[in-house]
Amino acid sequence: MRMKKTLVYLILAGIIIGLAIGIWLGFGGKQILLSNRSLKVIAYLRAPGRFKEWQLEALTRCGDAPFLMPTSGMIGYVWKDSFRVGHHHTGLDIFGPEADGKTAVYAAYAGYLTRMPGWKSSLIIRIPSDPLHPGEQIWTYYTHMADAEGNSFILHTFPMGISEMYVEAGTLLGYQGNYSGDTLKPVGTHLHFSIVKSDRSGQFLNETRIENTLDPSHYFGFDLSAELVGEQIPHCSGDMLYLP
Ligand SMILES: [Zn+2]
Repeated sequence: MRMKKTLVYLILAGIIIGLAIGIWLGFGGKQILLSNRSLKVIAYLRAPGRFKEWQLEALTRCGDAPFLMPTSGMIGYVWKDSFRVGHHHTGLDIFGPEADGKTAVYAAYAGYLTRMPGWKSSLIIRIPSDPLHPGEQIWTYYTHMADAEGNSFILHTFPMGISEMYVEAGTLLGYQGNYSGDTLKPVGTHLHFSIVKSDRSGQFLNETRIENTLDPSHYFGFDLSAELVGEQIPHCSGDMLYLP
């Protein structure tokens, strides 16, 4: 009986210590969901017209960056942002000013487009020679181009199962949506854009793992890694600037 009671106390103590560590890590890890930048994302999504100064325009280029802006909107989340303990965001989230299915998405750079069977909201474009590391092959991954139920906003020109179709930079690919299987992620119509590395055989690696991706900001002409962006909304005016 006594042993049983001791065991219950031990389990309870374990749970309390676990919770305390979880909360401590949550704040210590600067979880982006608790940050000022997330409040700005929410404000923009409610009334994009009121926050025009946060918006970047599709098909523009910042300075002499190799990539065009693939869509219009506010860069709300960047590479390495953390939405929960142990998680790191693998790309840029660009929140558009229009309703689901309305804000256009274009190819940021020329390459060979593939859309795997079952990819309702995603496509990937192979770039044989990385403009920042010539000779190395990378992939640009575009996702969230479907509505909440998974009805695709990708153009019919790029059906599921298509592979290695050449597209020029600036080619219209589809429209921003809010399709996401992950309820922990912030909702809101956006494009998730990431750069994925190749494996040894030249195929793309699993794009959901941060170590398989590169910081896309350098390809847009500036350094937007989470540590540098902090609470600010990235903006371009000739060179990359952060709003005060
Ligand atoms: Zn994202």
